[in-house]
Amino acid sequence: MRKMVNKKTVEKEIVISGIGIHTGKPVEMKLKPSDSGQIVFRRTDVEGFEFPLDPGNVESQNCTMLITKKGKIYTLEHLLAVLWVYGIDSLIVELSGEEVPIMDGSAAPFAQAVRQAGIRDLSQKKSTITITKSFIIKESDASISVLPDSELRVTYHIYFEHPNIKRQGLSIHVTQENFESEIASARTFGFVEDVPGLRAKGLALGGSLKNAVVLDKKRVISGPLRFPDEFVRHKILDLIGDLALMRAPVIGHFIAKKAGHSLHLKIVKFLFDHPEFWEKT
Ligand SMILES: [Zn+2]
Repeated sequence: MRKMVNKKTVEKEIVISGIGIHTGKPVEMKLKPSDSGQIVFRRTDVEGFEFPLDPGNVESQNCTMLITKKGKIYTLEHLLAVLWVYGIDSLIVELSGEEVPIMDGSAAPFAQAVRQAGIRDLSQKKSTITITKSFIIKESDASISVLPDSELRVTYHIYFEHPNIKRQGLSIHVTQENFESEIASARTFGFVEDVPGLRAKGLALGGSLKNAVVLDKKRVISGPLRFPDEFVRHKILDLIGDLALMRAPVIGHFIAKKAGHSLHLKIVKFLFDHPEFWEKT
């Protein structure tokens, strides 16, 4: 029997400033303690913008975003990964604009801020989702398999026709310690040749050599990598951030091949539509 754990919030308010990688605009983010038992997003620049995190109001477009009748919030995934791994499920995320700041392109600054502020148990208990049946979802040559396991494990395989990436694969038992040492500091990455296309769609306007690993056709042009396989580590970070939409701890093994946000979200939505594949305790 797994012991039931308490819902958690932050000990004190956290203020973080930066720019949005997609919008390119400055933004201030406050993470405020809350005992509501859910993560609620608020935008102070839009009256009445207050919506709980829910897989039903999340979509992907090169990032994971909240889409509501009052507007959007871009780039939730790195923040959500940290909150989920630290077990924080009761929080107000207040933003002065429409995007979570990108910081250095990784989740490390959020993890450090949360650790410094401290985490507090609430009296409410939370349940755990345990995968009980295997399934696979495919999208052209990408796939994610989900299998029962005794712990949360994420395995990722990527292939890019680029001398610095090629084939990379990694499997992580997702604990707070492993997340901090292996995953949190892996930065987002992008290719110079994709920038004009992204900018034409109004994306990557704030992307720079300071907040992403940037590659031209032959090499990394943004300085040294933090890990030789930083690319696959960041993909694991993104998948953890999207699995956070389950809004509960999950026990199971997720094996992704050449996937991305759109397939990550399909897995989450499939699980919500098919409770026969898991058990809540
Ligand atoms: Zn990312």
